[in-house]
Amino acid sequence: MTAHIIDGKALAKKIREELRADVESFKRSTGGPIGLATVLVGDDPASEVYVGSKRKLSKEAGIEDLHRRLPMDATQEQVAAALDELAADPAVSGILLQLPLPSHLDAKALIDRIPWEKDVDGLTTTSAGRLARSVEGLLPCTPQGVISLLEDEGVELQGANAVVVGRSDLVGKPLAQLLLQRNATVTIAHSKTKDLAAVTRQAEVVIAAAGVPHLIGAEHISAGAVVIDVGIHRSGEGLIGDVDFDAVSKIASKITPVPGGVGPMTIAELLRNTLKAAQLQN
Ligand code: NAD
Repeated sequence: MTAHIIDGKALAKKIREELRADVESFKRSTGGPIGLATVLVGDDPASEVYVGSKRKLSKEAGIEDLHRRLPMDATQEQVAAALDELAADPAVSGILLQLPLPSHLDAKALIDRIPWEKDVDGLTTTSAGRLARSVEGLLPCTPQGVISLLEDEGVELQGANAVVVGRSDLVGKPLAQLLLQRNATVTIAHSKTKDLAAVTRQAEVVIAAAGVPHLIGAEHISAGAVVIDVGIHRSGEGLIGDVDFDAVSKIASKITPVPGGVGPMTIAELLRNTLKAAQLQN
């Protein structure tokens, strides 16, 4: 079997195009702008690239760029004050605090200063609680992007055995919640899981979000499974994922590539969240 390659780049482009029209009609009907405040503390090169793409694509969608930059040595109080100011500003529909933060800052405390209606990354404690209780709110972008890919591909989640490899607050845990909401039978594997291959081989849907290059090989996948790769790593051969694509694509029925799979979906979902945030506040 050779797996069908899931084209995240194409779906993300389609979502952004649809969104542009929705943003336009929201602005027409309310007479107000939509604004996204990306907040970057310091000058981490990877974060610069991520924030740069978020700003560029949000401007293309008709969303105002209200970027804020703070120096590497900004104190907890200074970052908190910047977030409070954005939270109170009616021109700001969404706030995204780019992670990771410099190590002297308490990231969890800062994230929790963002009001849930402006939490376009879906990472505050309130947003996580709303997700866990299935109360409407803003969902974390990467997990929602994975679900959008699976749904667009027509993958049946109801009753399916789904294994999520990784239990981070950013990806693994919220993804497991979203799969549960769709009636999948969900297993979360992590770094202390015994015999990972035996667990993932039971799955019809495997989602790798462990942050370990090529962790998932042919021995982890049963024939015909759907495999989604969230991992991103820079290597000598360019970007690679948590899945050994060459080996697994011979066994799986569908698979996401890296790059061009989950990555572009994350930004598309961020833009969708920014419009939703503006609607929630309207
Ligand atoms: P993290 O380091 O916070 O969490 C990794 C999780 O994987 C942990 O829960 C850990 O228990 C588990 N894990 C680690 N080693 C394991 C092993 N050997 N076996 C099983 N489980 C193991 O990482 P994260 O923030 O969740 O990100 C995961 C990956 O996804 C990273 O490569 C990151 O770069 C990537 N990522 C991509 C996007 C995107 O837009 N595509 C967004 C966020 C994260």
